[in-house]
Order: sequence, then structure tokens, then C-alpha cells
Amino acid sequence: MCRGEAKKMLKILFVSSEVAPYIKTGGLADVVGSLPQALNKLGHDTRVVLPEYKQIAYKYIKKLEHIISFNTKLAWRKEYVGINQIKNAEVKTYFLDNKYFFWRDNLYKNNDRALQFAFFCRAVLDMLPRINFKPDIIHCHDWQTGPLSLFLKSEYKNKEFYKNIKTVFTIHNLRYQGKFSFEILDDILAVDKKYWYKGLIKNNNLINYMKIGIMTADKITTVSDTYAEEIKTSHFGEGLDYALKFRENDLSGIINGIDYNNFNPEFDKKIYVNYSHERIRGKLENKLRLQQKLKLAMREKTPIIGFISRLCRQKGIDLLLKVIKNILQEDIQFILLGTGDPTYEYALKQISKLHPDKTSINLKYDSNLAHKIYAGSDLFLMPSEYEPCGLSQLISLRYGTIPIVRETGGLNDTIEPYSEYNNSGNGFTFTHYNAHDMLYTIKRAITFYHKPEIWSNLVQKAMKADFSWTKSAEKYSNLYKII
Ligand code: ADP
Repeated sequence: MCRGEAKKMLKILFVSSEVAPYIKTGGLADVVGSLPQALNKLGHDTRVVLPEYKQIAYKYIKKLEHIISFNTKLAWRKEYVGINQIKNAEVKTYFLDNKYFFWRDNLYKNNDRALQFAFFCRAVLDMLPRINFKPDIIHCHDWQTGPLSLFLKSEYKNKEFYKNIKTVFTIHNLRYQGKFSFEILDDILAVDKKYWYKGLIKNNNLINYMKIGIMTADKITTVSDTYAEEIKTSHFGEGLDYALKFRENDLSGIINGIDYNNFNPEFDKKIYVNYSHERIRGKLENKLRLQQKLKLAMREKTPIIGFISRLCRQKGIDLLLKVIKNILQEDIQFILLGTGDPTYEYALKQISKLHPDKTSINLKYDSNLAHKIYAGSDLFLMPSEYEPCGLSQLISLRYGTIPIVRETGGLNDTIEPYSEYNNSGNGFTFTHYNAHDMLYTIKRAITFYHKPEIWSNLVQKAMKADFSWTKSAEKYSNLYKII
């Protein structure tokens, strides 16, 4: 590659339903909130667009300035689109406004999701000439943006402005797909029936937005190498493994990084005391203050196991519930922060009633408390059934909190099991989705926690590891250049 080519600057548009810090339900928001910054540091002009949801905090809404408004065609409909932009943002971010579609109490539980997100995709494409931004790459994220490439390639490509725009589609979690009945083909998508018969949009006699993204984007990525392999199998493929195998030459895995400015114990304002691998004593102070806050006994030498997660099957809550009584027989404290499935919430509440002295179960979404738990815990449990990448284990490492994970997806690619023979590894892992394997691994981790030399070596290594975006942003940059 000649030098000029290596430095080629690209115009990139990220299209996503969630972007941190504006709106977040999971890791997708973190990725879209931080990867564009890393790409811009490489010299690209990366911008972001998201729906202007009702749930976006007023402190951001009040910074918005209106740029333009226009109407977007959606089958037989004509819908208002307002484009607002946040003032002085590090990354140019467009908020796509339509109160009817996005001023809702729920992000994804609405009955007209097919309409909401087809509208979003078309409105994004219609916005581009109006804001005079012709991207080289449109980078779409998850099922909500699946139809964008289809619209681009079926209809918009005939207009001069859209020629040569390439698309990348990233799968953050294959389980959530956006499946809708055939009727939306004419009523919402309004594309030729040949796309249905060619199998580009159809899955089990339904229209599947995730499949549309997979079949119509120029390149498909997912968020770890292991998950990129796993989803081509029927076990992890969520019914779309055949489509992913069909596109396997265009599918690759790029591991997520985390935003090292946001997650940095040296400067984090959300934790009690700042610390670094050179000033590690501050971590203990965070532990004691966390115990005090959550009304647990302030005990230096009792390991705290942290757990921060959406409470859904994917995250291994079933394993946890199966052996929680055995775990609590150890001299440990268990701190959980999460919301989700009411059955899990109920079961966890019962556990906290039975073991108030050893558990702190916090059933809410609370970013401040999350940082305090990352900083104050000794171990972090992530026994996922599957995990496309996982950010929490990377955040834990950054705060010197040692992860215990199941070897799947990104957990497999980022956590290497500790070996007492050569002191290698940065965490504790188990292979099978089995509660007793997890229990054994937790007990093993506790044993090493009580060997201060080994433990402090593990903590140091964890904190010095580099899981920032730098390397992965380079990989995306290289991918964009070869499309
Ligand atoms: P997923 O995207 O599948 O939910 P990840 O590990 O990739 O899982 O990312 C989850 C992110 O959401 C992490 O930053 C984690 O700290 C945060 N998070 C999850 N649940 C909560 C909660 N209840 N309160 C605060 N932060 C949470």
C-alpha cells in the first residue's frame, strides 16, 4: 500500500438506535459512543445519527440546535423529519426528530417497531444530501438499521448522490432480530417482491430486519472473533446461521474496546477515591466505602464479588440462582446491580432477604453505583450463556477487579485463565454452561485472592492491560478501506 493510500481519510456515518451518553440500554451505546472518536483520531470524519428519543436527558436536549426539516416517504406515507445537532460535541452527532415515532415510553417494546425503524433508515438516507454529507461508508448497527442497505441498494443507488456509498453492518447481539409479518413488505418497506423471493429479507416466513442487514450490507462484522465463528453454528446462530455462513467471506470479528477516558480509576469522579496501579491502596478505600454505603460489614479481607448486568437469560442468571446458596457459604460478599426479567428480580429479592449480611441486591439502572462497584469489588462474575463481546469484563480489568467468566464469545477472546504454574492469565474461566463448574471456578478464584502476592500481581496486570479502542479502530479503518 502506498503512503497516500494508507492516510486516506474517509467520511463515515454511524447509524445506531443507541449512543452513549445520550441514550443507552447496553453495550451497543458504549461502542457507538466511543468508536467514532477513536476513528476521528486516525484522521477520518466520522459522524453519528440516532433517534431523538423522549428518554434523552434534558441536559443534552437543551444543547440541540435545529439544522433542517423535510419530509420522508415511507410507502404511502409522508413523515416529518427534523435534524438537530448537538452544539460543540466532539463527534458531530445528528438527532433525528419525529415526535410520533420517538416520543414514546418504550424504546423497543412498541407494536409498530417495523415502522419506527424503517422510517429511521429512510430518514437517515434522505438527510444526507440535505446536510451536504456524502459518506464513503455508512456503518449500521444491529437490527434497527438492517433495512438501510436494502433501501440504498434497491432505490437510492439510482440517484447520483448515493452512488458508491458502501455499507458495513455490525451485529452486537444476534438474539434481538426485529421479526415482522409479510404485510410490511408493501405497507412499510415498499420494495420489490423479488427481495422476498430471493431470500434476502425472509426468514421463517417473516420479514427479518437483522437478516436484511446481513444479506444486503457490503461487509458484516461482529464484536469478537469467537462470536463471529459461533454465530455460524446452529447453537449460537439464532436461526440465522445459514445466512451468516452464506456471507462468511464478508464476515469478520473485531473486538470492542472501552472508552479509557470514561473508565479510568485515576480520574473517575463517580468513585470514592482515585487510584492507579501505582497507587493501589485507593482501591481498598473504595471497597470499604462501598461496603459502608450498601450496609455490608466493612471487612478488608472478605472478597467482594460484583455482578452488573441486564437480568436476562443470556447473562447466566440461571447458573447464579442455582448455586447462590453454595457461593454464600464462602466468606464473601455479593453485590449485584441490574434490572430486567421480573422472575429473576423476584428470585434475587428473596435471596437478599435470606442473606442480608452477605448480599446487596440493587434492582435498578445506576451508572454512578456501577462505577463504585467496579472500583470496590475484588472479583467480577460474568457467567454468560453467550456473549458477543462483553464490556463489563474489560471495565473490571481497568479497575483491577478480576473477572470470572464463561469461555464464550468476547469473554473467550479477552480473558485468559490464570495458571499458577507460570502466573499467566488475567482472570478465571470455565468452559461449560454449568452451575457447578462456575461454583468450582469461584472457589478457585477465592483461594488465590487469599494469596496476596499472586493477587496483587493479577491486579497489577489487569490494570496495565490495554483494551482501549486504539487497535480495534485501526481494524475498522482497514476494513473500510478495502470495501
Ligand atoms: P450488554 O450490552 O449485553 O448489556 P455489555 O457487557 O456489553 O453487555 O455492556 C453492558 C454495559 O451496561 C456495561 O457498561 C455495564 O456496566 C452497563 N450496565 C448494565 N446494567 C447496568 C445497570 N443496572 N446499571 C448501570 N450500568 C449497567
